[in-house]
Amino acid sequence: MAKEKKLIAIGETGLDYFYGLSKKDLQKKYLINYFRLAIKHKLPLILHCRDAFLDLFEIADKEFVDQKALLHCFTGTQKEVRNVLDRGWYVSFSGIITFKNSNDLIEIVKICPLDRILIETDSPLLAPQSKRGKLNEPAYVVETAQMIASIKNVSLEEIAKITFDNAMKFYQMFDKNGHIL
Ligand SMILES: [Zn+2]
Repeated sequence: MAKEKKLIAIGETGLDYFYGLSKKDLQKKYLINYFRLAIKHKLPLILHCRDAFLDLFEIADKEFVDQKALLHCFTGTQKEVRNVLDRGWYVSFSGIITFKNSNDLIEIVKICPLDRILIETDSPLLAPQSKRGKLNEPAYVVETAQMIASIKNVSLEEIAKITFDNAMKFYQMFDKNGHIL
């Protein structure tokens, strides 16, 4: 599909040591394959990482230098988000940011510059606080956007525009004149 130009990105892919559903070595092997696929087809990469940032950075620094990636549904530490940003990658936040116990994640949002933030549903999972436990859907992403806007002290309209533009830029959805495709 990448060869046929049917894709605008590769992913999500990455490392998940939390669930341990497959062996670390196997996960690393496939991550390297995805890094190479994204580079070969000049496509941005959407990364998932849970309890595995050290390995992710170690492999990326060998296999994915100066490439475009988005760390989706970020739930790491402040140090880890700085490492993500240092590599020029984007960071995406989901409904988790609206949960009552999201203080650590609020500090992470404060660290992230506005031009690197995306928002997502992670639907059907992670419905925001007011819909928690329900099936998540795109309409609910406004609650996540509202939370990010209040942390960043900007209006909902501004955060909507900024994250939309970031997404268009990340997915290379602009033409040569800067217009959205
Ligand atoms: Zn994921």
